[in-house]
This record gives sequence, C-alpha cells and structure tokens, in this order.
Amino acid sequence: MILDCERYSGPCECGREHPLETRLVVVDYGCLNNFDEYMNRCGLTGKRTVLYDTNTYNLPGMVHVRADKEIILEAQGLHSEKDMIEAVIPQLDNPDVIITVGSGTLMDFARYPANKLGIPFVAIPTMASSDGFTANVCSIVIDGQKRSIPMHAPVLVVADLNIISSAPSHLVVSGVADILAKYISLADWKIAHLVSGEYYCERTAAAAQEALDLMLECVDTMHKGGVPDFEAMTMAQMISGLSMQLLGNSRAASGAEHLIAHLVEMKPPRFENANGIHGECVGVGAVICAGEYHRMAALTPKAKPYKPLDEAWVREKFGPLADGILRENEHDCLATFDPQNIVDHWDEIREIIAGIPTAASFAWTLHALGGKYRLSDIGIDESLRDEVLDISTAIRNRLTLARMRRVLDFGG
Ligand SMILES: [Zn+2]
Ligand SMILES: [Zn+2]
Repeated sequence: MILDCERYSGPCECGREHPLETRLVVVDYGCLNNFDEYMNRCGLTGKRTVLYDTNTYNLPGMVHVRADKEIILEAQGLHSEKDMIEAVIPQLDNPDVIITVGSGTLMDFARYPANKLGIPFVAIPTMASSDGFTANVCSIVIDGQKRSIPMHAPVLVVADLNIISSAPSHLVVSGVADILAKYISLADWKIAHLVSGEYYCERTAAAAQEALDLMLECVDTMHKGGVPDFEAMTMAQMISGLSMQLLGNSRAASGAEHLIAHLVEMKPPRFENANGIHGECVGVGAVICAGEYHRMAALTPKAKPYKPLDEAWVREKFGPLADGILRENEHDCLATFDPQNIVDHWDEIREIIAGIPTAASFAWTLHALGGKYRLSDIGIDESLRDEVLDISTAIRNRLTLARMRRVLDFGG
C-alpha cells in the first residue's frame, strides 16, 4: 500500500500550511525489490551511502539495495547520542543521499548527518516498533540530556513487510504501545488548548486519531488470536509520524506518557536500573497517566497560584542532570495562563478524560499482548510510583494535564 501523503499536507483551517517533506511512503510485502523505482519517482539520484548496523545488515530476507558506499555500524552499544552520530559523518564519503536501514536509532544516524550536510535521506525501517520513522524530530542525547530537535524527515520510506513481520514480538508490541499512547497525548493537547489557548489543529489531531483507530483494530484482531495485520500496524506508525511533520513538533503524538520514556533514557538518581525500548516505556507511561487522569477526573480541584519548580527539589531528584532540567523549565508553560482556567473548564476536561481507557483496561490490553505495563517491567521500583509523574513532567516544558497538577489543589 502506498500512503497518500498529500492528503494531509497543504493549507489548513487552522491557518497553517502543513508542509510535508515525505513524498512517498510504501508499505508492502517485497517492496524493497522495487526500491530503485521509488527512488526515481522521488527524484533521488546520485551517490548513495547506505547505513546498516550489524543486525539489520544480516537480517534474514534483507534485500541490500544498490549502494555506492555501505557502512555497517556495530549494533552493540549503538545509541542516538550526538558524539556517536557525529563520528559517523566523515565516513559517509560525501553522498547525494543517505539511505538508512534499521530502527529509530539508525534513523537518527541518517537524519542528523543529512540535516548537517543538507542532503535528503531515505528510511528503510526493519521494524514497526515506534512512530519515529516518518517524523522530522530527532531524539538524541546531548550531554546526558534527552533532546527532541526539529530536523528533516525522510523523503521516501520503504517498509518491506517481509522484514517487518519477522521482527521479534516484543518490538511489535512496543510499536502498538507507542500508538495506543495517543489516547494520552491527544487528551493532553486538547486540554492544553482549552485552558491556555495553545495552538491546536483538527487535521493533525485527526491524523493521530486515525493512527490510533487503525491500531485499535489490529489489537482487537490480535486479542482474538488472529494474524497480526502488519500492513495496518505499520501504516499506523507512518501516519502518526506524519502528524509530527505536519506540526514540526511531536505535540499530537507525545504527551505526559512519553516523558516516562525520556526518564528511562536519562536515568536520574534512583532510576539507574530503568530500561526498556521506547514503546515499552511509553506503554507503562500511558498506564500511569490513565490511572492518574481518571483519579483526578473523579475529584474537583481548586486553582493554586503558580510557583516555579523549586531548585532544591530539582537538584535532589535529578542530581547531575539538574542544570539541564532547570534550563528547560526557565520559561515554564504553566506560567502562561491563569490556573483558574483549568478549574473553569473542568467539566470539559472530565469529558476528554472519559475518552481514555482506564489504567486497568490499558494494562490488560498490553498484558494480553505479552507487553510491559508495570513500572517494575521497565526496571523502576514500585516505591517510586507516587513520584514518577512529578519527576517525568519536569523533563520537558510541555503543557500536559500531569504538569497542571502543580497549580491544582485536590484537597489533601
Ligand atoms: Zn492545521
Ligand atoms: Zn513515541
């Protein structure tokens, strides 16, 4: 199936243009055999450097596309880390286009250099474990701090289902969780729009919702013991990724639940043993957020005056990472509107929360697929449960309902 990217781009009722750099997304069994045809269709000619890691290069059934230069990175210890990515740039040999074959990490190893060299890149995902493939955001660690930096998106994505459908099942479930998390991220965006007037776009939200709906159907089939619909699951990832391009940020696709994944990657004090791949952590984050949001919805808060994050608290919770966290919160989005707005819109907020599955239902969905759903599943001690959201929301200056708790008093 070929995804009609143009359906999403162009002038919109929200007042923006919504450019898409991705011209063609192909999701099909055996589509790598026609790779050159898709390259031509996108006008991608000239010298090609193709990036693999030692795992993706040797995958059974891998079709190695024509290359002027191949680079095979050692998979062991490969991270989206700035210094590690920059070390690869001199080896690229001045290509006209970079083609990258692998997971989200491999994408960043092409995305970042492509951006730096001002050339296009092409993505050949080998798994549908997250929605980062069609995104134009690079999530990399710079000086120990996880950053989402706006960058180019792939011009062409060729997702061969022969390869994707053979990925280990925990990666498939990770991809499912990353999309189910849109329940939380979309709620966070809608609530932020309601109380602070933050920009909101119906078309982009609808794209994220489309991805969620597609994935829900797939999950339903899997729960009934049916064959997973890899085409629909991969499409859901691609569409969710496009929602990030439409906005130039991950607002529609990443809310409070995603910050648990960032927490796991950053490993502040007491979280040293946290581990898990992106979607797994996001899934656990979604369970935590669903629980907390439904708990809040059952109560009626009063507004509390805004106070900046307490520096001593940040230093205690983040240790050596504290300076970065303090910088991130310098222009706190919580300070940009009257907290009373949240209280005044509480009925509407309750209605939005009512659309989110309960924590138990979320957990059951993930558990039934063999996925991770508890903090302990991702190496976080259950005793940290009450603090997890306070700490994770401080990681990113984005307005979520979880962050709004700082200006709400639920009475005890
Ligand atoms: Zn729009
Ligand atoms: Zn994600």
